Amino acid sequence: MAVMITEECISCDACASECPVAAILGDDNEKNPYEGEYFYVKPETCVECVGHADTPRCADVCPTEGAIVWDMPYTTDFEEYYAAGNEEGKYMIREHKKKGLMLPSVKAQSFMEEIGMDVRESHADVAASF
Ligand code: SF4
Ligand code: SF4
Repeated sequence: MAVMITEECISCDACASECPVAAILGDDNEKNPYEGEYFYVKPETCVECVGHADTPRCADVCPTEGAIVWDMPYTTDFEEYYAAGNEEGKYMIREHKKKGLMLPSVKAQSFMEEIGMDVRESHADVAASF
């Protein structure tokens, strides 16, 4: 990842069109593990806007405090974290026909290195970091 959308989300739809890599799914998308509840960020796709913007664009436009929070980097250091979360239904990581589950070992993603692990572990509000 990644950033993560929480149950604080009010499904206002301000964020999805702002994402430069189409990582955000609406609450009506069947690939969203929280379908019918709130929006979802695909951790295997989110690049934390690295190379696109100075700050995560989704959080810049989100009107709801606590709806978009930090998650762990989508790197091999967190392979088990994402694999376990996928098993639990917390994530719905894409399954590639040939490559299998698109875990960090298959394709790691960029992340904002300046964001500390304590901030990520506590799932702190993204907008509060800037
Ligand atoms: S941080 Fe950037 S890449 Fe990630 S979901 Fe938000 S807008 Fe998309
Ligand atoms: S902008 Fe915030 S509240 Fe609106 S859909 Fe996205 S995460 Fe939810």
